[in-house]
Amino acid sequence: MVWRVYLGAGAAVISLYLLVPAGPVRDVIYLAVGLSCVIAICAGTRLHRTASPGPWYLFAAGQMAWVMGDAIYSWNLDVRHVTPFPSAADVAYLIAYPLLAAGVGTLIRARSPRMDLPGTIDSAIVLVGIGLVSWAWIAQPLVSASASGVSTLARSVAVAYPVGDVLLLALLVKLVTAPGTTSTVFRMLVGAVALQVVADTAFAAPSQGWDYPSALDLLWLGSYVLWGALALHPQMAGLSRRPDLHSGRFTGRRMTALGAAAVLSPATFLIGMALGRPVDAWTAVGGALVLTSLVLARMACAVDEIRVTAGQRDWLQDEIFFRAAHDPLTGLFTRAYMLHLVEETLRRGQVAGTATGLVLVDLDRFTALTDVWGPAIGDDILRETARRIVGAVGPHHAVGRLGDDQFIVLIEAPEAQEQTTFVAGELLTALRSPYEPDGYLIDVAARIGLSVNADMGVNASVLLREAQIANRRVKASPTASFEVFDNHLRREVMQRVEMEAALRRAIFHGGLELVYQPVVAVGTGAVNGYEALLRWNGSNGVVRMPAEFIPIAEKSDLICDIGRWVLTETTRQFAAWKAADPHRFSHRTIAVNISGRHLADQRIVEDVSAALVASGLPAHHLIIEVTETVLVDVPIAVIRLGALRALGVTISLDDFGTGYTSIGQLRTLPVDTVKIDRSFLFSIEPGSSELIALITAAAHARGMLVVAEGVERPDQLNVLKDLDCDSAQGYLFAGPLSSDAVGDGDELAFLPRLDVVREG
Ligand code: C2E
Ligand code: MG
Ligand code: MG
Repeated sequence: MVWRVYLGAGAAVISLYLLVPAGPVRDVIYLAVGLSCVIAICAGTRLHRTASPGPWYLFAAGQMAWVMGDAIYSWNLDVRHVTPFPSAADVAYLIAYPLLAAGVGTLIRARSPRMDLPGTIDSAIVLVGIGLVSWAWIAQPLVSASASGVSTLARSVAVAYPVGDVLLLALLVKLVTAPGTTSTVFRMLVGAVALQVVADTAFAAPSQGWDYPSALDLLWLGSYVLWGALALHPQMAGLSRRPDLHSGRFTGRRMTALGAAAVLSPATFLIGMALGRPVDAWTAVGGALVLTSLVLARMACAVDEIRVTAGQRDWLQDEIFFRAAHDPLTGLFTRAYMLHLVEETLRRGQVAGTATGLVLVDLDRFTALTDVWGPAIGDDILRETARRIVGAVGPHHAVGRLGDDQFIVLIEAPEAQEQTTFVAGELLTALRSPYEPDGYLIDVAARIGLSVNADMGVNASVLLREAQIANRRVKASPTASFEVFDNHLRREVMQRVEMEAALRRAIFHGGLELVYQPVVAVGTGAVNGYEALLRWNGSNGVVRMPAEFIPIAEKSDLICDIGRWVLTETTRQFAAWKAADPHRFSHRTIAVNISGRHLADQRIVEDVSAALVASGLPAHHLIIEVTETVLVDVPIAVIRLGALRALGVTISLDDFGTGYTSIGQLRTLPVDTVKIDRSFLFSIEPGSSELIALITAAAHARGMLVVAEGVERPDQLNVLKDLDCDSAQGYLFAGPLSSDAVGDGDELAFLPRLDVVREG
């Protein structure tokens, strides 16, 4: 803020100066402005605590000398009424030049301490160019004024001014072209020095037509005020800060400025000749020689700069490429570069008719390993794995790291698929021996997935994905250590993908159907309810059974869509039956199978209640069947079942006896019915019927009902009767029936068969 106040005040005082008539008052104002400038520089230097105050004290001293010169000049003029030349004023002025030049010089040094040869040559070119002009038009006329009786001392002093100005100007050029930050203060500084140089040069030029003193005084005063203001500016301390980047490049703007400086002197000679005041031949030839040498030197520097820059660029390009292509931890190729290599290899294989193989190595439980041993040991293991892989496959196969604990080996044109499996075997052997990072002994198991492109129809990312699928298959298998993704598996996957798409279409475009299998009371043979079972009517008239498509649907959220559809359709159907024949259906139930994945989905409760609300079916009619294994596979199952039960629906545990639930656990489970798996009825193992008896007794003790599945023969039914089982379901009574058959009451058709059994 202070600097703005100073600048404003300075402008006001300069305006006042112009209003006051020439005389002592005006000169005092002039001196006051100069003195304020000196004080401002000193104050600013202290105020902003610049790291290198040297240049600033030189500036202050230079300006002080200048003010002294002004004071002596004014004293002579106003008090003694003489204007001697040379006088003590000139001594002061000529002391000011070297001081200011030293200030600018030390500032340049502080800003860029490195030797800047090109910048120095640039300044020399400007120095010589402008020096020649000022010699030809300013100094030489003064020197040759000997004829008019001027003393040698006077001539020398007169010539010293333009010399000083040219020196300041050259330093100014060096300041501008040297590397360093260019702030507002920097521009103010350049402006201040430039104003001073312009005013001096104009003053010294013999044929000036200035309206002195007013016009030139304005420039000098402006320079004083600018000096003072910039010293008070808070950015002044940053002026001597070193630049972050080397910015003294050979730019187009520099080139133009240098060209102009180089052309300036020949142009001067031409103009001089045209005006009939030719410059002497020595000056012309000498100047041209020096300038040409300097321009040549500058060109050499420029060529060198270009060479260095090009070298740096090449190095940088190599460096960027290396970093992009190599994993910093292991030194192996990166995923991106590996994909590029695979793509190239596939392309070559397409032309040559050869296959391409990818071997994907995945470390088992690596995350758990780093959790236990820490990331540093983890890194050691990864580096060691990389070393072992490279050692095992040899130099002819590219090896990369996909990220984390996955590595990949590219096998170009394997002679047969056996070669890829051979490589996999080698790798497994290499990785089998224990790792010894930091003296610890750690076992790391590796799993390998292979993919081989034999029909040339895949791209790099597909081939990689296939290797990953093969790898996942290995993980899923308890015994395998590698798996090959070949054309056979590729076809299988394709079929699965196609099936998923077709199933999705079926869900939303009416390709699914439900059939209903009656559940009967063992004691009376009366129908208790039905189990809804899903069928998929394929486009070609083939009916697909759940075993074909439910496992595929369970691999994605497709199973939840299916579950929602089944819930909606079943409840709607049952409500319709009940509306048509309330008497027959009022005590019957409808069971729906819900998959574990859908049960894990938080929307399951909402899905069930939405189906009940939409159909208007009371909740007690609905049974949700989940398989026993779900209790183990879906940790949240028990909570979800509790929430479903709270809706008022019944929970039935399907396929009981095939999972790991103990009979004792039944006590704690939120379950109403147990469905004994069909395998128990068919088992010929001794003790099967005792097991059924045990399950039934335990379930009854907990207030649960027991349903037996898959009853096909009368003797099985008799066993169930003896064991006091509640309900049964099976082909002996009826297979799954169409909704129309149930609606029409056709299920009664099988009751006589039950009578036969009873009689038997
Ligand atoms: P589940 O729930 O245990 O269904 C009983 C299966 O046994 C049904 O086969 C049924 O047709 C069959 N079955 C009935 N009585 C007998 C018999 O006396 N002997 C023999 N050998 N089999 C009999 P299905 O319809 O093929 O269903 C198979 C499995 O598919 C079901 O087993 C169930 O786990 C699943 N499933 C069926 N529908 C759906 C559904 O809508 N959603 C879900 N998530 N799964 C379903
Ligand atoms: Mg079932
Ligand atoms: Mg079952």
